[in-house]
Amino acid sequence: MELPVVKLDRVSKNYHSLEGEIEALADISLDVDRGEFVSIVGPSGCGKSTLLSIVSGLIEPTAGKVWVQGREVKGNLQSVGYMLQKDHLFEWRTIRENAVLGLEIRNMKNKERVSYVNDLLDAYGLGDFMDCYPSQLSGGMRQRAALVRTLATEPEILLLDEPFSALDYQTRLAIADEIGSILKREKKTAILVTHDIAEAISMADRVIVLSKRPGNIKSIHSIELTCDKRSPMRCREAPEFSKYFNNIWKELDVHV
Ligand code: ADP
Repeated sequence: MELPVVKLDRVSKNYHSLEGEIEALADISLDVDRGEFVSIVGPSGCGKSTLLSIVSGLIEPTAGKVWVQGREVKGNLQSVGYMLQKDHLFEWRTIRENAVLGLEIRNMKNKERVSYVNDLLDAYGLGDFMDCYPSQLSGGMRQRAALVRTLATEPEILLLDEPFSALDYQTRLAIADEIGSILKREKKTAILVTHDIAEAISMADRVIVLSKRPGNIKSIHSIELTCDKRSPMRCREAPEFSKYFNNIWKELDVHV
């Protein structure tokens, strides 16, 4: 059997602050398989972003171990791409220049990769906007440009931290749909953190519900939806959708 692409084994994280110690995550064990899309939901402050930062190697767990592609995570990893709520495009760089930024930072820029970026920009509707500046683009287009920049370094794993929450509702649905389909097409493994239950279900193969802080795994829902050519938008209409929604909603109720 193939090794999981991401493996967390009894991971805990405590932060030290002026107010004392904050227990953010407690005893998280999780395997994510190649090509799998996992969504993580949980009450605000339960450690979701912390979990992604640990997987990316940006911060170290207080206890437990993390492996990405069979290698223990220590320091930053090249094979992990991060997408955040804010697109972090540089306003003084064109879309083309923004898209190759990750390649420049990692010293990976060459002819083949630049042509791959151009192909991605073309494929995702930004071909005519390559020489525009971010301020000339809509929120959805900016987020697509940020995705291209993230994909440019060909990461095996995408970590998505509320990447759509700054967008208005309509754009958010459309972009989640597009990005979900792109990631499936590119066969990427993805972990999405979101507070939107419908978004979590519609994009994921599995939804992980975390308890309130210190976050640990409360439940795991394997999402199986009856819909033709599954896309995040279409699967909201699947008959099973509301059952998953209600179950996860109940579990997120902090009073339970
Ligand atoms: P979530 O993403 O679920 O909202 P976070 O991972 O951002 O949760 O934070 C989990 C807890 O850890 C929160 O109580 C937060 O205030 C605390 N925390 C996060 N980062 C730090 C830090 N660098 N120093 C101290 N406390 C932190």
